[in-house]
Amino acid sequence: ALPRGAAAGETQAGTASGHRPGPDEGKVGELLARMTLEEKLGQLQQLPWAYDTGPGGPGTKAVEDAARAGRLGSVLSIYGARTCNALQKLAVEESRLGIPLLFGLDVIHGFWTTFPIPLAQAASFDPQVAVRDAEVSAREARSNGVHWTFAPMMDVTHEPRWGRIAEGNGEDPYLTAAFAAAKVRGYQGDRLSAADRIAACAKHFVAYGGPEGGRDYNTVDVSESRLRNLYLPPFKAATDAGVATVMASFNLIGGVPAHADPHTLTDILRRAWDFDGMVVSDWNGVQELIPHGVAEDGADAARLALTAGVDMEMTSTNLVTHGKQLLREGRIGRRRLDEAVARVLRLKFALGLFAHPYVDEGAAIGEPSAQARAAARAAASRSMVLLKNDRGVLPLRGSVGSIAVVGPFGDSTDLLGTWVMPPAARKFPACTVLDAVRQAAPGSTVRHARGVDPQGDDTSGIPAAVAAARACDVTVVVVGEPPALSGEAAARSDLGLPGAQERLVAAIADTGRPFAVVLVNGRPLTVGSWLERAPAVLVAWHPGIEAGHAVADVLFGTVAPGGKLPVSFPRSVGQIPIHYNHENTGRPYDPDDKYTSKYLDLPDGPQFPFGHGLSYTTFRTDAPRLSTGRIAASGLRAGDTVEVTATVTNTGSRTGDEVVQLYVHDRAASIAQPVRRLRGFQRVTLAPGASRTVRFRLAAEDLGFWTNDPRGEFRLEPGAIDLYVGGSSTAEGRATLTVT
Ligand code: BGC
Repeated sequence: ALPRGAAAGETQAGTASGHRPGPDEGKVGELLARMTLEEKLGQLQQLPWAYDTGPGGPGTKAVEDAARAGRLGSVLSIYGARTCNALQKLAVEESRLGIPLLFGLDVIHGFWTTFPIPLAQAASFDPQVAVRDAEVSAREARSNGVHWTFAPMMDVTHEPRWGRIAEGNGEDPYLTAAFAAAKVRGYQGDRLSAADRIAACAKHFVAYGGPEGGRDYNTVDVSESRLRNLYLPPFKAATDAGVATVMASFNLIGGVPAHADPHTLTDILRRAWDFDGMVVSDWNGVQELIPHGVAEDGADAARLALTAGVDMEMTSTNLVTHGKQLLREGRIGRRRLDEAVARVLRLKFALGLFAHPYVDEGAAIGEPSAQARAAARAAASRSMVLLKNDRGVLPLRGSVGSIAVVGPFGDSTDLLGTWVMPPAARKFPACTVLDAVRQAAPGSTVRHARGVDPQGDDTSGIPAAVAAARACDVTVVVVGEPPALSGEAAARSDLGLPGAQERLVAAIADTGRPFAVVLVNGRPLTVGSWLERAPAVLVAWHPGIEAGHAVADVLFGTVAPGGKLPVSFPRSVGQIPIHYNHENTGRPYDPDDKYTSKYLDLPDGPQFPFGHGLSYTTFRTDAPRLSTGRIAASGLRAGDTVEVTATVTNTGSRTGDEVVQLYVHDRAASIAQPVRRLRGFQRVTLAPGASRTVRFRLAAEDLGFWTNDPRGEFRLEPGAIDLYVGGSSTAEGRATLTVT
């Protein structure tokens, strides 16, 4: 076990930054002064509700009793205006001090209106997509009694085997930071007490995206520089955006579970960043300090977590059970305890719960509005990525005589993605591609055959699918990964199409007829075995409630595809981790030299790189121009910026979107730098022949990097920095900046 003692117990997580007294600080202090120790510990407890059984049902009795006794701070996995009000009444009207409960729920990419999964949203390279998701989610959730969502998830990852890649924004910290901040703004708005806002939670703190082997919850061993350059930036962006809460992560960080890690939870989050919100554990995360192998028992686990900086315990009950004893024995400090309680109370005041503990049952939103659906549809079509489009198969002409829709996802409503509330999935499933194609092409004959199931080896349906393809002018093959194969605890060791789906694609290719593959997926898939034979491939991800319509919008060209990959697609699982922001070896890849960094049995590089995506038109981006070729590091540190401009032109014959991306590479630094790092992006719409000059501003924080110093050292060193601008991470247009 870690060293014990009063000194550790007295660590004041966050007091170094001091708490910021808000308008309610006086009331927080008054309450604290009146609370018993049991009531204080109670505020640090969050218990799960069994939302399918309803009030008084099995699983809810313990929650109700704790609420009445004033020994409960928060409830999770609860929603519903009546349910929430009934439970709230116990806390507000029957407990001694009447402190309201805080209701939390995983509203990850929608409440009733399911937006595309977060990984898909990142592919839009348009943070407004995330803002709209968060705004719609907040309005629907708050009206149904929810105060707090456990989102956004912002775990950067280089691990497509890891199922939770679907919940985040891919492999890049800059893109993820932009989306994390956008989501926080969308959920929280300017005022948490507003009737259409909820508190956000930056999760999972931190480095959860680096599990060895891609297996969920697994060990992460990360250098300080990688921690700071790769995993921390989105969390910094979220705290800068004012996120109300942070959730600790399940993984170890260099042998220390994140829930017990004062380095990240206190030194960085509280002291360096001045975060004054609340830190919640993950589900049972405090209890898990025992199997992790750092806590001897529940009391020890509670001590470690509280001391490291966790304020509220989700699900397990170690703080509430052992807090009194720990305090008596001097193993936790009273000030630290009060500080944690104060943070919970402050959040409740900020949400307006003391003034308005109940939600208006008559105003509960019961279904997706037309505007919400439209926003989800636009988000989904903006998120789609055209990997390939040979022979002009896409867009489909609306006048095409006959279309075959084949594959296990053609008529499937299972397109919402991971983390959807079961009642939302039941009541508001996705619209199917088949239905949407029928609507979009009313004059065409549309045939349908599933061919195969999403999983399983049965190929007996393939001949019917082949017959449909032969009978039609064009075929849309909708294949991919069911949502159940991505998300939490859904790691895969094989990233090919599950079951017999690759056999189906091959059989359709054998017909020699034109076809397009639509992939529904929660992660990068390996497509190499059939890619050459498929004329067109569209990545639709798990698109949400308007899935079919959004796919049809892109297939028929009503919306031009403009998304870009937020994560590399590997050629083979054996290449993982493979990502664009890697460092060079001393022997970079060379096809003619045996002794360089490569696999003997694979070409170099991923199948598709980060930032890749086509449209129905073509673009040219001219080499970037700089406002200055030389700049002093001292000036940059003092706030100077370098302006980078590049002109992008639509060189094709249709209107379309291009995402202009800016990458930097410091050629020689005291810590070897990734070959490229994204430092700017802008999505533009251009008519045929039209040009636009896109501007980026680079500041010291865009050009420098964090060293391995555990105290946190950010450096901007003199030397040459290459800047690349273009339509993917392989952009060749270059300019060089010299930092003196
Ligand atoms: C997940 C969190 C989630 C929590 C509550 C955990 O298993 O890791 O992301 O917020 O459950 O549902």
